[in-house]
Amino acid sequence: MSSLSGKVQTVLGLVEPSRLGRTLTHEHLTMTFDFCYCPPLPCHEVTSQEPFMLKNSYWIQKNPYSHKENLQLNQEMEAVREELLNFKSKGGGSVVENTTTGISRDVQTLKQLAEETGVHIISGAGFYVDATHSPETRAMSVEQLTEVLVNEILHGADGTKIKCGVIGEIGCSWPLTESERKVLQATAQAQVQLGCPVIIHPGRNSSSPFQIIRLLQEAGADISKTVMSHLDRTILDKKELLEFAQLGCYLEYDLFGTEVLTYQFSQDIDMPDDNKRIRRVRFLVEEGYEERILVAHDIHTKHRLMKYGGHGYSHILTNIVPKMLLRGLTQNAVDKILIENPQRWLTFK
Ligand SMILES: [Zn+2]
Repeated sequence: MSSLSGKVQTVLGLVEPSRLGRTLTHEHLTMTFDFCYCPPLPCHEVTSQEPFMLKNSYWIQKNPYSHKENLQLNQEMEAVREELLNFKSKGGGSVVENTTTGISRDVQTLKQLAEETGVHIISGAGFYVDATHSPETRAMSVEQLTEVLVNEILHGADGTKIKCGVIGEIGCSWPLTESERKVLQATAQAQVQLGCPVIIHPGRNSSSPFQIIRLLQEAGADISKTVMSHLDRTILDKKELLEFAQLGCYLEYDLFGTEVLTYQFSQDIDMPDDNKRIRRVRFLVEEGYEERILVAHDIHTKHRLMKYGGHGYSHILTNIVPKMLLRGLTQNAVDKILIENPQRWLTFK
């Protein structure tokens, strides 16, 4: 048992879990995503270099990773602050900020946003996908990586005294790389020491979440305190989803608001729309998993902010919850998904 036991650790310090309120469990408030830039088709090169305008906003919505400026969410602190205030006014309480090493985590900015808005912000420890690992990260042993993770939670991240409150999102590719495997093993070891919440970004293949849970289990992790993100784009088959749900981790539908014809990172995947996500969530509730479901938007680019015509961080509270109720989810189930489940997950053992 650590000194954090029974508490949630935000960027402003420890809080009682009951204070979190409605919680988005997978968001980014400041980060960069340049490493995921997708060169546009030759006929779209001019558009991809234009600044944001109404006449290109549809194109950017559908080709978000081909517009360089769109990948710099770290330039939007003012807009994000306004959105957090809006989120709070709509009944929101907390945001888990999943930005890890490799995509420009900035805990100072997170602290400032928390102070200025009163929204609880929980920051993520650890490393994003292999493509962002530095040579130093790759060279570390599992023990050294474990030490980094434990330090970010007990002492502070990026040379500050601002502490992380979860491990993740831990980035995994498909196929999983050697460096990612070490980070997963370190994640399990750090979790054994600290009893902390863990959140994983799986590779884009339905076998990836299964492989990750197996690996974490073998390394001693507590699967009941682990979240598998991005299930919306990862496990599309219902039977396979139920098989995965039995493993006992949290099941996260965190791409609410993303509705695209072509998913730029995988032509093989037909990204579901929000109605499909709601139906999936209802299906899992009907199958008895309402205590395991979490939801979020995973905002990581500018175009999803309201300032640029996007849905913003309040989309779930203002648009998705009413539709969930209309489609037969009970208020009780919605409260579990937005309040009780995040609270249980985020509390240190
Ligand atoms: Zn994310």
